[in-house]
Amino acid sequence: MKRNTVLKLSGVERHYGQGDTRLSILKKADLTLNSGEIVALVAPSGTGKSTLLHLAGLLEHPDGGEVHIGGHACNGLSDDKRTAIRRGEIGFVYQFHHLLPEFSALENIMMPQMISGLPRSEAKVRAGQLLDYMRIGHRGAHRPGELSGGEQQRVAIARAVANAPSLLLADEPTGNLDPETASYVFEALEALVRQSGLAALIATHNHELASRMDRRVTIADGKVVDF
Ligand code: ADP
Ligand code: MG
Repeated sequence: MKRNTVLKLSGVERHYGQGDTRLSILKKADLTLNSGEIVALVAPSGTGKSTLLHLAGLLEHPDGGEVHIGGHACNGLSDDKRTAIRRGEIGFVYQFHHLLPEFSALENIMMPQMISGLPRSEAKVRAGQLLDYMRIGHRGAHRPGELSGGEQQRVAIARAVANAPSLLLADEPTGNLDPETASYVFEALEALVRQSGLAALIATHNHELASRMDRRVTIADGKVVDF
């Protein structure tokens, strides 16, 4: 498989507050992710994992440096353009599933596809396939509240990849699960990434899961470093 650069952070800066209380979270941080690569982001709480993922996911603007998604330099783009890139290229998974409680698992996965203009019938077929792939095809009609934590996260992962993104960003996706369920959910996530060739950046505190990924990075003194 040809390896393309999917995500490139160059000299990214992120600071909170001003003057004496100024907190520098990222200081000229660099990170490159290629297609087909699963990278663990392992760092203590409060070091900037979520900040980094939000910048990479175009949910926030850096204070300096550049975020490239695919070929696009994203800083100068309009909000509409950033939203379009986010919808087309990026899938995001949170620690807590953030599924819509009033809708079924199947409908939650159909939603992003329909927002992107796919007909309902096609969105439904793909949502069903993704649920099957995550081995919860039989749970499609249930609302999130009727699913276990592991099932909810599998639906959230299916939703994140519904539009076939090139980049998957996951913020402690198994942080809320018991170790056995975490391992199972991660296996499903890994299989999906391997099969689709997308690039994934996964923040986790779980060293066992991190050891199964292709590469491990951490945040040290505001920079992203391999370890
Ligand atoms: P992590 O995900 O690794 O736990 P975060 O990226 O959430 O870390 O946060 C990094 C640091 O930045 C923390 O010290 C946090 O308190 C601070 N921080 C995050 N967001 C804000 C904000 N909007 N305003 C001020 N400080 C923030
Ligand atoms: Mg965080």
